[in-house]
Amino acid sequence: MRFSSLYIPTLKESPAEAEVISHKLLLRAGMIRKLTSGLYTYLPLGLRVLKKISAIVREEMDRSGFQEVLLPMVQPGDLWRETGRWEHYGKELLRFKDRNERDYCLGPTHEEVMTDLVRGEIKSYRQLPLRLYQLHTKFRDEMRPRFGLMRGREFVMKDGYSYDADVEQAQESYRIMHACYTRIFTRLGLKFRAVEADTGSIGGNFSHEFMVLADSGEDTIAYCHDCDFAANVERADVVCKEAVSLEACAAREEVATPAAHTVEQVASLLGVAQSKVVKTMIFVVDGKPVAVLVRGDHEVNDAKLARFLKANQVELANAALVENVTHAPLGFAGPVGLDIPIYADNCLKADNDYVVGANRGDTHLRHVDLARDTNIVAYADLRSILADDPCPRCGGRISLTKGIEVGHIFMLGTKYSQAMHATFLNEQGTETTMIMGCYGIGISRIMAAAIEQNHDASGIVFPWQIAPFSCILINLDLKKTDVCAKVEWLYEQLSGLGIEVLLDDRDERPGVKFKDADLLGIPLQLVLGGKSLARGVVEATHRATHAKTELPLEGFLEAFKAWQASVGCGLSQ
Ligand code: ATP
Ligand code: MG
Repeated sequence: MRFSSLYIPTLKESPAEAEVISHKLLLRAGMIRKLTSGLYTYLPLGLRVLKKISAIVREEMDRSGFQEVLLPMVQPGDLWRETGRWEHYGKELLRFKDRNERDYCLGPTHEEVMTDLVRGEIKSYRQLPLRLYQLHTKFRDEMRPRFGLMRGREFVMKDGYSYDADVEQAQESYRIMHACYTRIFTRLGLKFRAVEADTGSIGGNFSHEFMVLADSGEDTIAYCHDCDFAANVERADVVCKEAVSLEACAAREEVATPAAHTVEQVASLLGVAQSKVVKTMIFVVDGKPVAVLVRGDHEVNDAKLARFLKANQVELANAALVENVTHAPLGFAGPVGLDIPIYADNCLKADNDYVVGANRGDTHLRHVDLARDTNIVAYADLRSILADDPCPRCGGRISLTKGIEVGHIFMLGTKYSQAMHATFLNEQGTETTMIMGCYGIGISRIMAAAIEQNHDASGIVFPWQIAPFSCILINLDLKKTDVCAKVEWLYEQLSGLGIEVLLDDRDERPGVKFKDADLLGIPLQLVLGGKSLARGVVEATHRATHAKTELPLEGFLEAFKAWQASVGCGLSQ
């Protein structure tokens, strides 16, 4: 294809609204444009990338025995009432009414609709397993849409669902998907890791997330150096030191801590370690306030709290609520005398004689014995794992790294099939509930994640598998007919080989063309001008490494193929 006839509106400057590099580069490379918050248009080049990602995902899903279908995006509210999610899904679910005042929503995910289809069709164990998927636009009214395609409100997802007759079959579906995802992300040319994950609002028994490793990732992954343990920190169990028999602690006393709001300030004012200060955090759990205690040097993990309390929604309380509950300004909340349910992190059990907020301005309490002085409802694992914690599986050394969640597989069990009566007759003729799994891939998020992982100061460095074109061919001397003729010849030769070539035939300065070629991230760059033609060569640059070479015009195709193989950019899909 010719650059001059494609709509590729590249930008010289980084748009101010973009915070992360993938968002900046997608806008600058003319691949996407913003309509409004969280809603993006794909321009021709961006759409080519999206289609390449989709094609690989489709091929591997088909290969795994999943069949593609396409479900409606608009979903009846009544189906969501059957699973209870009409009430529980929260504000991400965009609800609306039709002209007959019936409730509908835009699909953020399709468990209900797919299960409605299956329950109407499947009657016998002979029809199972049934494994279906689709590629579709989802809508989630995200609280904070941001980072361009990374967290949109409308985005493209591959969602797959398995319906199995028994646990073994369901585990087989899960294994098939785990292997399929591993092939997909390998073929996409991404550095990734599968990690144990929290099951969140979808629920279910266990799940893995597939993370593209990138420093800008929103998720933190804990992994072990000594075994194959890898988990989202939302999930990773924390092993606390055993509580040794604790010495009795002196009677608690009030101590003035003027203007000391933070753990650091309180610890240094009172001359104690931060681990001896207890943080009291007020959360709103399904609409009710609760207090959560962790050591001053630890952080409460919302996902663990939600899981422990079997809650649908967990939010940090706002300042007004904290003041209302504790009768004190922010920074002085404490568990003594607090009359809301109090939960404490396990690690607090290992010590005694703590400093806590006094629920009074500028005041703390010291010599607090949590067992003696407070009414803790329960202790649980409520904090995030840290690098100096032991591996929960082998006791080995843990490291933390950042990742972008691009895929998620869940073993759902019977959560949805039971609620929606998706049953079949088993071999003995007994009515049995189907076991479900669901499997998502963020197709449009992958586009952003691939760029977060692969870019440099000049622009995008697409893995060759998903680049919009495999090769960009730059004509440096549009006015010279012999150069133009040779460029056309090269274009034909490469196209004949099945290579997708973008021919830069624009009447622009060489500098502009080189800059755009780098910005777009096309893996192989070929340049021909009067001088190189006279020498009988084409200048070739590998985008990722900037390694340059010259390919002879005589015997060009053989030289090109050898170069392509040597830089590891296979033929386009
Ligand atoms: P997150 O924790 O990032 O909000 P999620 O747990 O809500 O993700 P799932 O419901 O598992 O995500 O959705 C499947 C996949 O869809 C995710 O793995 C992710 O790649 C993608 N995805 C989810 N939300 C968005 C979004 N707002 N924009 C783009 N992609 C998304
Ligand atoms: Mg989400």
